Amino acid sequence: MNQLVDRFGREHTYLRISVTDRCNLRCVYCMPPEGIDVRRKDLILSFEEIQRIAHVFCQMGITKIRLTGGEPLVRKDLVTLIGQLSALPGIKALAMTTNAVLLKDKARALRAAGLSALNISLDSLNKERFKAITLRDDWDNVMAGIYASLAEGFDSIKLNVVVINGTNADEILDFVEFVKDKDVNVRFIEYMPFKDNHWQAAGVFSYADMKRTIEEKYTLVPRFASKGDVAKDFYIKGHSGTVSFITSMTDSFCGSCNRLRLTADGSIKSCLFFAPEIHLRDVLRAGITDDELRVLIRQAVAQKPESHPPMEELAAGDNRAMVEIGG
Ligand code: SAM
Ligand code: SF4
Repeated sequence: MNQLVDRFGREHTYLRISVTDRCNLRCVYCMPPEGIDVRRKDLILSFEEIQRIAHVFCQMGITKIRLTGGEPLVRKDLVTLIGQLSALPGIKALAMTTNAVLLKDKARALRAAGLSALNISLDSLNKERFKAITLRDDWDNVMAGIYASLAEGFDSIKLNVVVINGTNADEILDFVEFVKDKDVNVRFIEYMPFKDNHWQAAGVFSYADMKRTIEEKYTLVPRFASKGDVAKDFYIKGHSGTVSFITSMTDSFCGSCNRLRLTADGSIKSCLFFAPEIHLRDVLRAGITDDELRVLIRQAVAQKPESHPPMEELAAGDNRAMVEIGG
C-alpha cells in the first residue's frame, strides 16, 4: 500500500533526485547571473546516501525516479548510481533530465546501466541563439547528444523547451517540424519564476498562445494522459513525434501532482514552489534508522500544500534557485 498519500488524497509515486547543484551551462532563465554558491562536495549526498534514501522511498510507494540537477552528467561516475537505483525493488522507470552537453559519449553506458528514459533540454535550434540563452557555445555537443541517444533504444526521449516571449517563442513551429520523423515528444514549458532568475510576467508565452501557434499549421489530436501526468499531450497529425505542454503558470496541475523532490544536499521538497523543506543529510550521517527516516518522509508529505500560489506571488517568494532544486 502506498504510504505517501498527502492531506489532499494525492498518492506520490514519483521521486526526482537532484544529484548536483553544479552545471556546465548558464541558462539565463534558470541560473542567477551572479551564479550560485555551489555547495562543498561533502555537503552533497553520496551515492550510498542517495541509494539508501531512495530505497526507503521505494518501500513507501515510489515507482519512478528521475535524476536531475544542476546538470546530472557533471557528477562523476553517475553511471554507477544509475546501476544502483535501477536495481531497487519496485522501480519501474528510471529517467534523467539533462542538458545533453556530455551525453554523446555516455548515452550507451547510461542505457546499459538501466536508465530507461531521457528528457533533454534544448531551447533553440539555432546555434547562435542557443549561445545567447545558455551563455555557452555547446549547441553542437547537445545536438550530437540528442542523435546519439536516439540510437540507444530508450523507452522515451523528450525534448524540454522553455518558451519565452521575445526569446525563442518564434521557434515553436521549427521544433514541431524537428520531430516530424523522430520518435520524440517535444514539451513546451511555460516560463516559471525562481529565485534571482529575473522572471517577468511579460516573458510568459502561454499554453493558449503556444497551442494556437501550432494549430495554425498542424492538427493536434489529444492523447490519453496517464495518472499523475502533469503535461497536456497531443499527437501531431502526420508526425512520428508528439507534442506536450507544461502549463504551470496559466493552468496549474497541482491536483494531480504525484511527485516529491530530494535536493542534492539532502532535503525533501514536497513542492517545487514551496520553500519549507525536511532536511535528511545530517540526521542520516548521525545514524538515523530507516523507521525514523520514514517518519521524516511522512512529515514532508504531510506538509505539502494543496497548490502553489499564482505566478506574481511566486516571483516574490523565497525559494531556492531552480538550478539548486532540480527541475
Ligand atoms: N541541467 C538539466 C537540464 O537543463 O535539463 C537538468 C536540470 S534543469 C533545472 C531541469 C529543467 O528545468 C530543464 O528542462 C529546464 O529547462 C527547466 N527550467 C529551468 N528553469 C526554468 C524556468 N525558469 N521555467 C521553466 N523551466 C525551467
Ligand atoms: Fe543548467 Fe539545466 Fe539550469 Fe540550464 S536549465 S542552467 S542546463 S540546470
